[in-house]
Amino acid sequence: MLTLPFPDPVLLDRDDPLRRFRERFELPRAPDGSAAAVYLCGNSLGPMPHAVRMLLGETLDDWATLGVRGHHEGARPWIPYAGTLVAPMAALVGADPLDVVLMNTLTANLHLLMASFYRPTPTRYAVLIESGAFPSDQYAIDSQLRFHGQDPAAALITVAPRPGEDLLRTGDIVAQIEANAGRLALVLLPGVQYRTGQVLDIAGISAAARAGGAVVGWDLAHAVGNIPLSLDAWDIDFAVWCTYKYLCGGPGAIGGAYVSRRYRDAFAGPRLAGWWGHDAATRFAMGAEFRPMTGAAGWQLSNPPILATAPLSIALALFAEAGMQSLRMKSVALTGFAQTALAARLGGEIECITPAAPGERGCQLSLRVRGGRDRARRVFTQLGLRGVIGDWREPDVIRIAPHPLYNTFGDVAAALDILAELVACN
Ligand SMILES: *Cc1c(COP(=O)(O)O)cnc(C)c1O
Repeated sequence: MLTLPFPDPVLLDRDDPLRRFRERFELPRAPDGSAAAVYLCGNSLGPMPHAVRMLLGETLDDWATLGVRGHHEGARPWIPYAGTLVAPMAALVGADPLDVVLMNTLTANLHLLMASFYRPTPTRYAVLIESGAFPSDQYAIDSQLRFHGQDPAAALITVAPRPGEDLLRTGDIVAQIEANAGRLALVLLPGVQYRTGQVLDIAGISAAARAGGAVVGWDLAHAVGNIPLSLDAWDIDFAVWCTYKYLCGGPGAIGGAYVSRRYRDAFAGPRLAGWWGHDAATRFAMGAEFRPMTGAAGWQLSNPPILATAPLSIALALFAEAGMQSLRMKSVALTGFAQTALAARLGGEIECITPAAPGERGCQLSLRVRGGRDRARRVFTQLGLRGVIGDWREPDVIRIAPHPLYNTFGDVAAALDILAELVACN
């Protein structure tokens, strides 16, 4: 009898309690349009749930037939629309709904919350980030520093992986926080690093930052819908995220933000305000004085983009139905299967830079093809032509992210079969 060095994907799929969810999605096709692609790119843009077509159709019908009355009438009135999604969103990030809001998009929310929570003084002015921070975050932070009259060369502290390493060490981050405790105003880090897929120790790093007197904010773009989160228990100050990656909220979908309950009732700092953050009971009295809503909702600016919010309601319902704990269990099994099969079949050719410990990674595996960038780039391009959709991050990383809602163990096996073929002929 033939024994494989890794489990049989057919059996794993047969025993998968979440397998029915795959049928709820329209999965993208291969570039030649022929067959369903192996879609492993939900870390960049989640695929579309079937039910979105119907819901958007109904939304357009409401607009067409009700016009302005759609704000108050119809199956899903627009004024409370984003607010009705806050409870399931808050459940996914482990927070009280009062401390969560859906508004704008990620980078805009980062600016809004930095406007309130980055308050440099002559002695406490520095911001700590990681050296590989996502470009939009770097631009936002650099521009906030300049906006506040700070020189980024003096006020920006970066923590990097050690030479020759790809991953950040918690101890190094904490040591940097402690070494700069007197002058640190803000620590801003990613819950999951986008390039390597590394999960950071949000609780431990947040505790160190707060002990040092700094405010701590988290960019959860790659964490939400990927790993279980307990924002309230972790005692952070604020967080921002997008909903179009792991959450499958659709391209350009409305973003999310969290503000700690510490600021819920009496936030004394500055805030960039808009009418949607005004107390809902008197918003339409159109008074000149701004009276914020309690909690995170007080940071809203504008009436929400309904067409960029509706798909998220479908996605959040799917997540609630599947359950984040079950999703996480399958996710760990998917990446574990991928890792074992990779090591057995391609260990000499491909290095996985994502942490091996399940607790330190989410769905994403970041692969480095040995032999340099040109070879890796060829393999990546041909992978796409063969219908395996991952993505590329400079200088030399192929990211694949098997998602427990819609990917199968068979997807992972198929992707690795094709990868093995391509590595052999490149
Ligand atoms: C995806 C991502 C963004 C994207 O920002 P948008 O404002 O939604 O375009 C920003 N930061 C990080 C870390 C991301 O992963």
